Amino acid sequence: MNSSNPSFAPMPDAQGFFGPFGGQIVPPALKQVMDDIDQAYETIRQREDFQQELADLFADYVGRPSPIFHARRLSQQLGGAQIHLKREDLNHTGAHKINHCLGEALLARFMGKKKVIAETGAGQHGVALATACALVGIPCEIHMGQVDIEKEHPNVIKMRILGCTLVPVTRGAATLKEAVDSAFEEYLKDPQAFFYAIGSVVGPHPFPKMVRDFQSIIGREARGQFQARHGRLPDYVAACVGGGSNAIGMFTAFLGDAEVALVGVEPSGEGLDKPGRHSATLSKGKPGQLHGMACYVLEDEAGNPAAVHSIASGLDYPGVGPQHSYLKEQGRVRYETASDKETLDAFMRLSRVEGIIPALESAHAVAWAIRQAPQLRPDQHILVNLSGRGDKDADYVAKLLDL
Ligand SMILES: *Cc1c(COP(=O)(O)O)cnc(C)c1O
Repeated sequence: MNSSNPSFAPMPDAQGFFGPFGGQIVPPALKQVMDDIDQAYETIRQREDFQQELADLFADYVGRPSPIFHARRLSQQLGGAQIHLKREDLNHTGAHKINHCLGEALLARFMGKKKVIAETGAGQHGVALATACALVGIPCEIHMGQVDIEKEHPNVIKMRILGCTLVPVTRGAATLKEAVDSAFEEYLKDPQAFFYAIGSVVGPHPFPKMVRDFQSIIGREARGQFQARHGRLPDYVAACVGGGSNAIGMFTAFLGDAEVALVGVEPSGEGLDKPGRHSATLSKGKPGQLHGMACYVLEDEAGNPAAVHSIASGLDYPGVGPQHSYLKEQGRVRYETASDKETLDAFMRLSRVEGIIPALESAHAVAWAIRQAPQLRPDQHILVNLSGRGDKDADYVAKLLDL
């Protein structure tokens, strides 16, 4: 149909594998549930009415296509390659997450589900999902650790305003891990009636595929926009990587373009040599299993998922999407890092030179571009996925820098 449809990339295979990564590492009963979701998804995504409704929502609700902005002043200052920004920060709700949340909420409604369930850490996934569920008209239940609830007041308020049921989780450390457990227990009470909405390209098959397909609108738009404007493709395409949804959404359309170098940027936090103080899963981890999938994992000495850190709360995850794990081993995508400090510098620099306050997550990719551009020629181009806006980070940055 048109460029707003989900992509039909050939990976993963029918069992959900990207090479050795992905799959469904879940109990047999849950495997059946996941297979049912996969089958429903494969059928529904090809329906004209589903495609049309999603395309209309992307256009009229999210505000797609998001523009590409040439950061001229920043490029000039750096004296090398031209830096361009794909403006996912201009989407309704201010980030790329609305793309897959709308897809998942709509799919849940087409499947006749009675409730959408999810966990949230800092609250970004919770707000995007509560937004999508309000619009699509399906009840939404978000589990959140009590500690996070106290830390993330603005997002908690937004979720309440949007009408979702917020379930505080007080057990254990009362943060993301406990919220995942709690949300999953609720889901298992009736997986036929409920839909578990995963927030990135992670978890058991079909979620890495499904979330990628909904996000791949980013790269399809960007490729067409760049080609139309410049008559060629960019030399580099970069995006930050936490679970990997905004990055895979950007990369998918360019995977077949051998002349385009793809760069995923992970957080090196306070240093790659400091276990527990970074979150660079692909750079420092190794193949393992986490949350129902085979993928690169950061582990501690006991073999448990490691403690992780990043200045950007949306990137601190000890696993990463299975397709990224595969693309790393294939060598098709290069995974690099940006530190907390470089990221903070990039956050301030983009704000002051271009008047765009980026999310701290997105500022990792900007930091990489700032490092790379001076090594390139002015007739070369770097396209950065600006995954979200930084309003949510303004208070935190102001405190850090004593502004
Ligand atoms: C959640 C978030 C991310 C990280 O998620 P991915 O799945 O790695 O894309 C990146 N940027 C923003 C703005 C986010 O909100």
